[in-house]
Amino acid sequence: MSFWPNVVVATPAHSGVAEGLCYRSELSLAPGTMVRVPLGAREVLGVVWECPACAPPGLSEARTREVAGVLDGLPPLNDRWRQLVQFAARYYQRSLGEVALAALPPQLRDLSSVQLARRLKRSAGTPQPSTPGEPDGHDLSEEQRAALAALHVAQAPVLLFGATGSGKTEVYLQATQRALAEDADAQVLVMVPEINLTPQLEARFRERFEPLSGAGAVVCLHSGMTPAQRLASWLAAHTGRARIVLGTRMAVLASLPGLRLIVVDEEHDPSYKSQEGARYSARDLAVYRAKVESEALAPQGARCRVVLGSATPSLESWHAAEQGRYQRLAMPGRIGGGALPRLRLVDMNHQPKGAVLAPPLVAAMAERIARGEQCLVLLNRRGYAPVLACHDCGWKSACPHCSAYRVFHKLDRTLRCHHCGFTERVPRACPDCGNLDIAPVGKGTEQLEEQLAGLLADVTRPDGGPARVSRMDADSTRHKGSLEAQLATMHSGEVDVLVGTQMIAKGHDFRRITLVAGINADSGLFASDYRAPERLFALLMQAGGRAGRDAAFMSDQGTGSEMWVQTWYPQHPLFDALRRHDFPAFAATQLAERESAGMPPFGHQALLRADARTQQAAHAWLNAAAQAAQGLPHFADVTLYPAVPLTIQRVANVERAQMLVESASRGALQRFLAAWQPTLLACRSLPEAKGLIRFAVDVDPLTV
Ligand code: ADP
Ligand code: ZN
Ligand code: ZN
Repeated sequence: MSFWPNVVVATPAHSGVAEGLCYRSELSLAPGTMVRVPLGAREVLGVVWECPACAPPGLSEARTREVAGVLDGLPPLNDRWRQLVQFAARYYQRSLGEVALAALPPQLRDLSSVQLARRLKRSAGTPQPSTPGEPDGHDLSEEQRAALAALHVAQAPVLLFGATGSGKTEVYLQATQRALAEDADAQVLVMVPEINLTPQLEARFRERFEPLSGAGAVVCLHSGMTPAQRLASWLAAHTGRARIVLGTRMAVLASLPGLRLIVVDEEHDPSYKSQEGARYSARDLAVYRAKVESEALAPQGARCRVVLGSATPSLESWHAAEQGRYQRLAMPGRIGGGALPRLRLVDMNHQPKGAVLAPPLVAAMAERIARGEQCLVLLNRRGYAPVLACHDCGWKSACPHCSAYRVFHKLDRTLRCHHCGFTERVPRACPDCGNLDIAPVGKGTEQLEEQLAGLLADVTRPDGGPARVSRMDADSTRHKGSLEAQLATMHSGEVDVLVGTQMIAKGHDFRRITLVAGINADSGLFASDYRAPERLFALLMQAGGRAGRDAAFMSDQGTGSEMWVQTWYPQHPLFDALRRHDFPAFAATQLAERESAGMPPFGHQALLRADARTQQAAHAWLNAAAQAAQGLPHFADVTLYPAVPLTIQRVANVERAQMLVESASRGALQRFLAAWQPTLLACRSLPEAKGLIRFAVDVDPLTV
């Protein structure tokens, strides 16, 4: 007797293989079984989606290939996981195989049965507590206690709206502890937006849970791990040995058979939205996943909770809470009763011309350093200067492959394109006219670090030593361990001023920072992107949240903490709400504007993006796709906007354009996109597709 498993394999959406491929097998294979199957001349990893005992009609039995092998010893991926993958694939308009296989560790494909057995053996057994005993969590504050209790009985997804320093992490820790205590097989997923936040969180979770649940109870999953580490973590999660998985957005698709709690920390962060492949929102999938798990657990009277935490929630989540779809739990106070920083706006119209840092700001920093306090200076641009230019002939350091300038990095004297990576040594003279005097224009973190060191050269710390300035950005943290080392110098007080990109604004629990400065905030005030104000507000509020976190230290020092913002537009209403730390007021104004404009979360959007050899080709294809959309189901319920080039229209010699699709109804948009997908595939063979390299649909895009 033969079986005819439908197996999903890694096929990109463009391949036209929307669902799985049919194979033959002598054994009945449970759905979710991981198998090796022949595909063309290769053997690839696949997941059995279903396994009927009779051949599908019209199948040529003789030509159906046989399953090459089953990944022995691995329990099948469960129904809830497959439901999650299926939903993600449908919702984000990708193939099942692409989403399913991207969620599995790549190494799984390459291991022989023997190797796999060895890996499994290594991660076998339930973790044993190393030392028995109670974990020593903090005594909860009143607000934390109330939030934890409410979380425990909440029936809806929870939005934990907690001020910076209100102790959200402690709530996550104790909620985790409670979930694990309730069920011997329970697992918890904790997500953070960026890899650089995982070490700190990992340390706190290990410290708390390894004594309870044993070494190996906490594992990480993020893209900075080696393939072998990723496989080990994934296996530990899949077999239930790992009780807690900490990770970035990719972790939302991990196999977690005992999932009982999902935490999405800093839920507003744009990093939760994938910008390649299946462009999913890990936050939204987390909410969906908790619902699916809860439905399955309902007969046992159990459920899977989901907590979205932030001091500056996304307007989507805020709106959901306003509507009662999410339950909002507020923790407005800081631990220890410390105050949030006072806003100091510096009107740049009244500062000396060309000053990168306003003199009053420098003076304030000097005072802080002399008292043994630390400062954080935020500038959203790495490198020394965003452009190098010749003032004789007008040459600028354009990237030959992108419609962008290459950034001047002084440390290694290179010009680097931050879009395609193209790097060259800085030329000695202007390549166009030979002028020797080519100069940096604008400022980046490297330059700010250098200037600050100069400006603070005469300042001494209480221990008599000179003030020390350090920089933290994607450049300074490239090497393994350098991030931890840099954070350590900040925590130990070795460094007085930390200069950096938004990387330093997020999540870190610095204890002795009392002044935070935003140097170049204005670009967010008038950007064409309608989400720019939301991002700017969140960034400034989060950055400010790094100051004054230790109430005891603050009262010893006797001064309050401050958030300085340099701006040419001090009257801008955004600063009013910021001054009052009034996120609800800010959100209300933004949501009112969005509602009247039919923007998300009131309207729903998707982008059709095209990459092509030329802009004309990209436009021609998008227009053909729009033409082909006419008359499709729900065409009348969506608006297709004209094709436009992306803001940075050329990257690595690829021209990029997009077309916005909008609808008042999410369901109508979904059904229209589903109908459009096969048409889009067909449009690849039109004459208008000449020059098209690839296309992608981005559902709920973050930038339009
Ligand atoms: P948030 O994530 O809300 O900004 P954290 O969770 O990092 O805040 O907490 C801020 C600081 O307060 C941390 O150093 C944490 O250890 C401490 N903390 C949290 N809860 C308590 C508590 N109940 N008692 C004492 N300290 C606490
Ligand atoms: Zn020149
Ligand atoms: Zn480039």
